[in-house]
Amino acid sequence: MKIYISGKLFDKDDAKISVFDHGLLYGDGVFEGIRVYGGRVFLHQEHIDRLYESARAIRLEIPMTKSAMIEAVNSTVAANGITDGYVRLVVTRGAGSLGLDIRRTANPQVIIIADTITLYPKEIYEEGMKLVTVSTMRNHPAALSARIKSLNYLNNILAKIEGTDAGCVEALMLNHKGEVAECTGDNIFLVKRRVVWTPPIEAGILEGLTRNAVLSLAREAGYTVQELPMTRHDIYTAAECFLTGTAAEVVPVVSLDGRSIGDGKPGPVTNDLLARFQKLTRQ
Ligand code: PMP
Repeated sequence: MKIYISGKLFDKDDAKISVFDHGLLYGDGVFEGIRVYGGRVFLHQEHIDRLYESARAIRLEIPMTKSAMIEAVNSTVAANGITDGYVRLVVTRGAGSLGLDIRRTANPQVIIIADTITLYPKEIYEEGMKLVTVSTMRNHPAALSARIKSLNYLNNILAKIEGTDAGCVEALMLNHKGEVAECTGDNIFLVKRRVVWTPPIEAGILEGLTRNAVLSLAREAGYTVQELPMTRHDIYTAAECFLTGTAAEVVPVVSLDGRSIGDGKPGPVTNDLLARFQKLTRQ
């Protein structure tokens, strides 16, 4: 495996950055997780745009242009012979002092890892996923915006631990108002009376690129779409529920907190949107 670090490719064992990098010391940096389908980097421009927006929000200047970044991702994917896989793109603040002052850091590091992908087990797509709500609240958006895809994922990791302890592969997080926010690494949707409904960005969630793609596909397919605050009650009483994410694509959810959703099986709208999404990725 060849790993790109700031302009050069290194063998996996030689791919190293400083222990003084603020990415390590403080989770001070941003990242993206991107899919490669049939040798093509999916939603490439959108991922690069979100990376640069995350960086802008934390006052991190990425030391290369967007087009150079796109080229670096493409060449790392090619160098690793990946036709279907996953790219992790990371930009750290760079090495600094043992203090928070970003003026004492230098040389942000750009890291690109192109690898195969670990997916949810096949049974989950066939039978649906069971989900629990966890007590770890999504970060208050006034403290740290979930729109920033930062290297500090502790909020999500703590929620994921609770989900795993409960025997679930994902976990539902609520926001500071007690509304449905998102899962630890996926956005959430429900379907009720043919309305496809997902929480708004203002609920304090990451603006998932799969979420946005599925919203467009749902509109094109003639479903009514709404981005409105959602409660757990709305999910308990929905006909269908599903998650979206770069790795998950569209994954059916068949129960939440021990309540069966709809008839407890992946629903027709979920399956339709998954098929439409897969068509889009394999074009
Ligand atoms: N929410 C969170 C917290 C995430 O980490 C992710 C995965 N990046 C998502 C939602 C889904 O976003 P996307 O569709 O862009 O992968």
